[in-house]
Amino acid sequence: MRLIIMGPPGAGKGTQAAGVADQYGIPAISTGDIFRANVSEGTALGVEAQRYMDAGEYVPDEITNAMVRDRLAAEDCKPGFLLDGYPRTLAQVEVLDGILADAGTPLDAVLVLTVDSEELVQRLLARAQVEGRADDTEEVIRRRQEVYSEQTAPLIAVYGERGVLVSVDGMGEVDEVSARISAALAGVTT
Ligand code: AMP
Repeated sequence: MRLIIMGPPGAGKGTQAAGVADQYGIPAISTGDIFRANVSEGTALGVEAQRYMDAGEYVPDEITNAMVRDRLAAEDCKPGFLLDGYPRTLAQVEVLDGILADAGTPLDAVLVLTVDSEELVQRLLARAQVEGRADDTEEVIRRRQEVYSEQTAPLIAVYGERGVLVSVDGMGEVDEVSARISAALAGVTT
């Protein structure tokens, strides 16, 4: 099963991605997590990525694409994968298309979590207090929502035209959303 999970910052992608990946026995690949791991390890990639992340901006496509290309070539991605937070720009969609075409492995579905944007900001502010993420200040949160609307929301239409979009209501308790996702994905052929 090859899946993408999309949705604005705070939609609960990471939480839901873990459950879906477990269910299908595939790795959940979060570009945000990979960047954060590099930041904590102080790698060259982390140093470069951090200034964008701290400002709520996207890390440049060349850096992100190269990282994802490497990750998808790993052995554990053979049975499939769930991409969380990638692609986020039209240029990333094109690169992912190329990677998948070269491997002869098309996407099965693009899961989109739909949520109310004001509730999102509140959720992110609550998360900031618990996790202390540097990119969870109110100003940066608002900027991340803007960047999502400008650069990533248009991808929904792109995947919609390809007929692979699975839209799920992301509001409510984690378990309720998980149940909706399971039901929606049950209709997707593997
Ligand atoms: P996330 O944990 O998915 O919210 O990602 C945190 C931050 O990592 C984002 O705000 C971006 O700065 C960066 N990032 C994650 N994924 C991407 C991507 N696909 N393209 C560019 N930047 C990304």
